[in-house]
Amino acid sequence: MSKDTASENTARLQGSCLCGEVRYTFTKPFKLFQYCHCSRCRKVSGTVHGANIFIFSDQFQWLAGEDKLTHYRFPDAKHFGSTFCKACGSAMPWITADTKTTIVPAGGVESLDESPTQSIFWDSHADWYKEPSSLPAHAALPERKPKA
Ligand SMILES: [Zn+2]
Ligand SMILES: [Zn+2]
Repeated sequence: MSKDTASENTARLQGSCLCGEVRYTFTKPFKLFQYCHCSRCRKVSGTVHGANIFIFSDQFQWLAGEDKLTHYRFPDAKHFGSTFCKACGSAMPWITADTKTTIVPAGGVESLDESPTQSIFWDSHADWYKEPSSLPAHAALPERKPKA
């Protein structure tokens, strides 16, 4: 194994919420990185699917703002929960009921250089889902069209 490969495998990633009060760090490798199209993930994320990184809980550490977090544990769900920043509402990492796994919502992670390897609950996907590559892509906020 080359030195580069070794450092890549233990690379430290960081993430934060929108207001910046909550910050965390974790290491590779990922157990899993996937999109989830279930209706719970759609509701909790407010968007078309969840995008979650799974790691062992001992790879994860809070850096700041743990007291700003609040948690919603879905009744009877072993593998579904939601932790979020009380100040800004951003989805934050949460620990599964058996505490072994931590699930990190990928949107808050900086400089993430891996991509998901699968979609789950595809049979539940939103009817309005469209492949992003099939949509017109604007580099930033598009100019408003003048009113006719
Ligand atoms: Zn926040
Ligand atoms: Zn889901």
